[in-house]
Amino acid sequence: MATDLQIVARKIASLNPATGETLRELDCASESDVLSAVSRARAAQPQWAEFGLRRRIEVLREFQARLFERKSEVAAAITREAGKPVVESLVTEVLVVLDAAQFLIDNAFSLLRDEPVPHANIVTKMKKGALVREPHGVIGIISPWNYPFSIPATETLAALVAGNAVVLKPSEFTPLVALELASLLHSAGVPKDVMQVVIGEGPAGAALVESPIDKLVFTGSVTTGKRIAASAAARLLPVVLELGGKDPMLVLDDADVDVASSAAVWGAFVNAGQACLSVERCYVHHRLFEPFAEACAEKTKQLRVGNGMDSHTDVGPMIRERQVKIVDAHVEDARARGARVLAGGHSLSALGPNFYAPTVLADVRQDMRIMREETFGPVLPIMSCADDDEAVRLANDSEYGLAASIWTRDPKRGERLARRIHAGTVMVNDVISCFGISEAPHGGVKASGVGRTHGRFGLDEMVRVKYLDTDRLPGMKKLWWHGYGESFRRQMEGFLDMRFGRALTTRLSGALRAAGIVRRKQL
Ligand code: NAD
Repeated sequence: MATDLQIVARKIASLNPATGETLRELDCASESDVLSAVSRARAAQPQWAEFGLRRRIEVLREFQARLFERKSEVAAAITREAGKPVVESLVTEVLVVLDAAQFLIDNAFSLLRDEPVPHANIVTKMKKGALVREPHGVIGIISPWNYPFSIPATETLAALVAGNAVVLKPSEFTPLVALELASLLHSAGVPKDVMQVVIGEGPAGAALVESPIDKLVFTGSVTTGKRIAASAAARLLPVVLELGGKDPMLVLDDADVDVASSAAVWGAFVNAGQACLSVERCYVHHRLFEPFAEACAEKTKQLRVGNGMDSHTDVGPMIRERQVKIVDAHVEDARARGARVLAGGHSLSALGPNFYAPTVLADVRQDMRIMREETFGPVLPIMSCADDDEAVRLANDSEYGLAASIWTRDPKRGERLARRIHAGTVMVNDVISCFGISEAPHGGVKASGVGRTHGRFGLDEMVRVKYLDTDRLPGMKKLWWHGYGESFRRQMEGFLDMRFGRALTTRLSGALRAAGIVRRKQL
């Protein structure tokens, strides 16, 4: 990681990936800085929890209003540091966060308040049950650079509204966007110690994992995720892991080629292909393969690549040259093994070291790196398949399982097939936008991760559930306490017959035998 960074002693340089300009140099947090941040968060958290759910929701409302006011400045800050076209910063980052805030404003109270639990058994009916949702305490959040605002913000908002304090370690490539998020939250009323940002590379993240946090929400690569899971397991630290993807797109024989090819091009090249939910593999029914691949190539050639600050730019730079090299290696492997390059297939060094031409590959095979490893760049590999069954088999033949999409004119057929795909989300006739549905849980299966963020399930991750069991008859000894004996055994057998016997006669005779329970002698 350090190769792309300009580290001067304990400093990190935030760079503009389009121009290479240094935006700012920042101090890197040491292990003791991380520990101090966590201990300040721990001290501040109880008061934040006592502040109350309704008042925390009001703080979120204020955050949302301030973000809305500053939407264009925040979008520009994201583009400067992450490179994506400014309209993508607005839509896939700012809008997603405004929506996530709205979801919590509208739903956090009903989802987090105590919930009565009715008991079914005649004996446990004497007890009142309730689910109480408590904050974990301090939540550590470690985030990547590709959605430097929407990923940490959606997770932080859910953690805060549930009454937790947050210590966020953003990617070393995008620290300024994280500081912008913290500043918006502080100005909206979140106490400084309740939401802190620690800047640094992997070691700062590792220090946060090792610190006495109560839960960790990590978003990043499978490699880092596995390392974190191992370290968290040693001390039973609960974790949510949002990891990589190799999302398949299945184009069925009845798909609309024009719509599906536009979707493939957007799904593969939005954020220069650096989205966990990018279309990374495309399986097309053999009858549509040629027209579909041609349409994709044609549309790809029309994309304008450049600086994301230019509002005409469709595809911006990749984050760092290191990422460009991975893309190049995957494309070269495919080319050497017989893939046809229909568009792109090379870097765009005239624009700068971080630019790669949007690339369409045909005649790829399932065993090529481009179909197996996460490319995380602007490449759309297209493969022909025989029928729906083969498409599903190929889609599931992957270590990843984040999301998938199915393209068909028959939504019912799409939904039936969707149930056979191993993934956290399957979209019928759309790609990627599930991340922006604030009600939808986001997360994967297999190597794509553990747990969920966003929506109801994302909020559930931010609380622990306590069961509050209150007896309605505090002056009465429980029927099952000591004072056993043969007659009690028979009475209990009768009770089980009464409750679970199939025949009415069994239940009635059971009730007669059980009736004596209330008169038995107890200690
Ligand atoms: P990364 O794993 O290199 O880094 C992610 C974060 O972890 C960074 O903040 C980094 O500094 C930190 N980190 C690195 N080493 C660490 C360690 N040993 N202990 C603790 N923290 C450490 O990933 P990246 O390159 O920033 O992001 C790209 C990856 O993220 C891709 O694989 C992509 O698919 C994945 N991603 C997943 C989702 C999702 O929701 N599933 C979303 C976005 C990105």
